[in-house]
Amino acid sequence: MSKQVVLLGHPVVHSLSEALQNAAFQAMEVDAVYEPIDTPVIDLPAAVEALRGEAFLGANITLPHKERVVPMVDRLTDEAQATGAVDTITCEGEALVGHNTDVLGFRPALDKLVGKAKMPKTAVVLGAGGGARAAVYAFISAGFHNVIVFNRHLHRGERLVKHFGRSASHMELRAKPWHESVIEAELAKTDILVNASSVGRDPETSPLPAELLPPDLKVIDLHYVPKETRLLKDAKAAGAAETQNGDVMLLNQSAAAFQLWTGQKAPMDTLKKQLDASRDAPELPVEPTDVGDAAETDASA
Ligand code: NDP
Repeated sequence: MSKQVVLLGHPVVHSLSEALQNAAFQAMEVDAVYEPIDTPVIDLPAAVEALRGEAFLGANITLPHKERVVPMVDRLTDEAQATGAVDTITCEGEALVGHNTDVLGFRPALDKLVGKAKMPKTAVVLGAGGGARAAVYAFISAGFHNVIVFNRHLHRGERLVKHFGRSASHMELRAKPWHESVIEAELAKTDILVNASSVGRDPETSPLPAELLPPDLKVIDLHYVPKETRLLKDAKAAGAAETQNGDVMLLNQSAAAFQLWTGQKAPMDTLKKQLDASRDAPELPVEPTDVGDAAETDASA
């Protein structure tokens, strides 16, 4: 019987991961099926416990469970421990191991954005959810000196900063209120802008007015739909040094999860082709939306 990989989230509609991972299993002749399972909070502990059976290679975890699932696994990788978020589970014998592949996806995206230039030391991050945590952790471990987080609800940005407290003690990591004048002042001083807010899926909507964007910024928008967001278009028009959408992060995050489950290198070409095909599909898969942040942990990294 085929092995199973499940996506546990609430809601899960038609996720892009389902198309990407099933295409990769097929291309590599892995006898496994990836299936999203709508898992309300109350059912999460049982769904995670069920992974201990022979039938599973592992799971992906998505909104709103990434933080909540942390105490339900037996071991955490460094990235999962540091971010306080698990997006992938592997079954190692009877033990469940929690990984954070968003971090593993963001690092190559950052490397590609910077190219051959020296790694910058300053960044502004919009958003304070799971994607933002992955970006902030990647900046901390890459030796950044100054990272400013802007979030619609300031308290969540402050919670992110508190979470990374000790591991960011050598640098300035601060949450600031989402006021355009404050954002503009910080953008004028920074090298990199990351959009890790949910705003961008609508091709006409940007999290920031175009006038706030200075020239020479390097900008990553974590969105991969649309292929070029309003923010990226505006950044280019303002003279951005480099722009990048969420493709590199998504592909590397998916490849990392595939390799963790199967022990094989993921077929990047297949993943890339499937991403383009899914993005062009008339009925684009719908991503889960945030239903609250109550599960976030405050534990220091
Ligand atoms: P979360 O739900 O954890 O966080 C969403 C963030 O967006 C929060 O900071 C939230 O702020 C903010 N936000 C929501 N609505 C608005 C709004 N109207 N104005 C300003 N801010 C808003 O999501 P994730 O961090 O997991 O994902 C964020 C985005 O990044 C998604 O679009 C996702 O697709 C993308 N992503 C892409 C990845 C990739 O591989 N390319 C990987 C991970 C994420 P508040 O706290 O105030 O509600």
